[in-house]
Amino acid sequence: MQVPATLSPSSISLFRTCPLAWRLDYIERLERTPSLDANIGTFVHAGAEALCELPPARRTIDEARAVATAAWATHIEDEEWQSLEIAADRVPQVKWRAWRAVQRWFELEDPGAVTVAGCELWVHGAVGGVAMRGIVDRLDIDEVTGGFVVTDCKSGKMPMSAYQDERLFGVWVYAHLVAEEHTSRPVTKVRHLYLGERPGEVIRDVTPEALATTAEVVTSTHREMVRACASGEFETRKGVLCDWCSFKPSCPAFGGDLVALLTHGTRRVERRKPVDENQQTLAGELAIAPVGR
Ligand code: SF4
Repeated sequence: MQVPATLSPSSISLFRTCPLAWRLDYIERLERTPSLDANIGTFVHAGAEALCELPPARRTIDEARAVATAAWATHIEDEEWQSLEIAADRVPQVKWRAWRAVQRWFELEDPGAVTVAGCELWVHGAVGGVAMRGIVDRLDIDEVTGGFVVTDCKSGKMPMSAYQDERLFGVWVYAHLVAEEHTSRPVTKVRHLYLGERPGEVIRDVTPEALATTAEVVTSTHREMVRACASGEFETRKGVLCDWCSFKPSCPAFGGDLVALLTHGTRRVERRKPVDENQQTLAGELAIAPVGR
């Protein structure tokens, strides 16, 4: 077994949560149970991206409603939505939930007042000596400092304060990667916008210490991944997230038959295009030129 050549923040986070779940997901590439929360998140992200591509004056709630209505018709035709097998009488409730997330976005900020440098940007590079990649939801310009703000919208509820910092791990990795590609404009903030039932914003100033801590986490987790892949031993870590784990029915920590899963489980077909087809440099996609250009 080998650690994938390039890692994403979610891969690192999953290994830290449970090494066995990481193996089943990222090494064995076993099918996961379709998730309604993830599906709603995809819809909200796509809508927010479409709206942010409009001129600021057009980023209104009425325009958002028009964008969301048109996008919903396409969304429910998608294979991922179909796999959820939502009963027809539940669809209006799910649609309302998705729309409420969009409304909460407008309650948290005025999208027309945000200077958006780019949306859904591929970033890649080395963090702590490990090759990392990912997609930045939104890169904004901080009106005060002129620096970049790495913003990620979450369709779930805002976590309690004790868990907020660990959830920011992905945007810290992106702060590293953006800073590496764009030295002419500093990355000054990382931010999560939670659009679920308990909405809110979590924002942190970027400091060299915080970036160094992120890099250390990446390096040490990668080291543990290499060790686990070499030995074939992947620990189970029971916790609150087990209830959302696709592999729980086969997990040995819950009396499941892991060997049967590894032997007969369905492997995922990769839906995403290969990285080099998608991958564009950040500089090539930015709507706002970096400072000094
Ligand atoms: S159910 Fe829990 S312990 Fe088992 S693989 Fe999933 S996250 Fe790990």
